[in-house]
Amino acid sequence: MLAQSLIALLLPVAAASGWYAARKHYTRKYLTDFAHPLTRAYRTGINYLLDEKTDKAITAVAKILEQESEPLETHIALGNLFRRRGEVEKAIELHKKLTLDPGLSQSQKDKANYELGMDYMRAGLFDRAESIFVSLSDTKTHGRWASQHLLQIYQQQRDWHKAIESVQTLRPYAKPRNGETAAYFYCELAEEAMSLHRLKDARDYLSNALADDPLCVRASIAKGKLELGNGEEKQALITLKSVEYQNPVYLPVVLPLIRQCWDRQGNEREFIAYLDHLYEAFGVVSAAVERADRMRQILGINAALDYLLPILESRPDPIGISRALAFLSEDSQYASNKIRRLCALLQELASDQHQFQCKHCGFGAKELHWRCPSCQYWGSIRPTGYLAVTPISEAEETTA
Ligand SMILES: [Zn+2]
Repeated sequence: MLAQSLIALLLPVAAASGWYAARKHYTRKYLTDFAHPLTRAYRTGINYLLDEKTDKAITAVAKILEQESEPLETHIALGNLFRRRGEVEKAIELHKKLTLDPGLSQSQKDKANYELGMDYMRAGLFDRAESIFVSLSDTKTHGRWASQHLLQIYQQQRDWHKAIESVQTLRPYAKPRNGETAAYFYCELAEEAMSLHRLKDARDYLSNALADDPLCVRASIAKGKLELGNGEEKQALITLKSVEYQNPVYLPVVLPLIRQCWDRQGNEREFIAYLDHLYEAFGVVSAAVERADRMRQILGINAALDYLLPILESRPDPIGISRALAFLSEDSQYASNKIRRLCALLQELASDQHQFQCKHCGFGAKELHWRCPSCQYWGSIRPTGYLAVTPISEAEETTA
C-alpha cells in the first residue's frame, strides 16, 4: 500500500510540467521521513523515474512491489504512467506480466488486460487491442469501455459491419462519443457498394440506414442520387424533398439534385413554387438565385434583378452577388468583357470562403464531409455562408 500511495502522489506530479521543480519537495516530504526498511529502495526507484532513467526505475520499483501484499493497483498505475509518457513498450511489458500472473483473480486479470488493450491502442496495434477488448466486452466491470474502444478500432479499420454491431451493443448504455450511428456506417457501406456498382446492395444498406435513423440526411441524399441515376426522377424527388423534414439545414445542399429531378420532369411551374417555398420558409438564398435565373429566361433580366437585388441586399454574400453579375454577363444587352472580369474577381473571392463548418470543433471546409476530418465527429459539419439556412422570420427578428 505504501508504494500505491507514493505512485498516486507522484502521478499528478508526472502530469505537471514542473516535474523537476516538484521533485525536491515530494522526495523530501514523503520519502526521507519514512523509517520503513524499504525506504531507500523506494527512493532509488522513484528517483530513477524522476530522472527519466526508466529502465532502472522499472527494475527498482518492480523489486519493491514483489514484497507488497497488494501490488496490482501499483503495477497498473506504473504501467499507465509509462503509457502516458509515451513509453508504450514498457507499459506493455508491465501489464502483460500481470495478465500472466497465476496469483491474480479473474477480475484482477481483466483489469490488467484492459490496460494492456489501451497500451496496444496507443501503440497502433489495433488487431491486438481488438482481441483483448472483444474478450472483455462481456464483463460487467469493463464491458462498456471495451465496447467504446472497439467502436473506435472498427472505424479506424473501416470495418463498418463490426462498427454497426458495436454501436448497437453500446446503445442501451451510453451515447456514442463522436456522434456515431449505425445509419452513418450503413451509408459508408452503401458508398463502398456504389463504387463497386453493386447497386442492389447499396439500396439495401440505405434502407437499413433510414430504418436505423429515419432522420439521416446522408442516407436520403445517397438514395436520391441512386434513384436519379436510375431514371426514377419521381421517386428521387420524394426522397430528396424529405430532407426538409429530416433537417432543413441541408436543403441548400440537396437543391442542385432536386433541380435535376425537376428539369428531367419538365414541370417548371411546380419547381418555381418549390423554390419560393424554400426561400420563404427557410431563407435558402441559392433557391432565390435559382428562381431569378428562371425569371431571367422567361421575363428578362430586369424582372430577375428586381426580384433578386433586395434579397442579396438583406443577405449580402460574394457568391450570391457573383451569380447576379453572371446573369448580367449572360444577357446580350449587358454582355461586356468588364462585367465578366468583375464576375471572375468575385468568384475568386468566394472560392476562398468555407461553405461548410463543423459545429463541434469549428473546422472550416469547402465541401460537405459527413465525418469531420478534424475532430472525427459524425454529422457535425453544416452548410454556412451562402449555403446557410435562415428562416426569414428569424432573420427579420434579428435585424429588427
Ligand atoms: Zn469537427
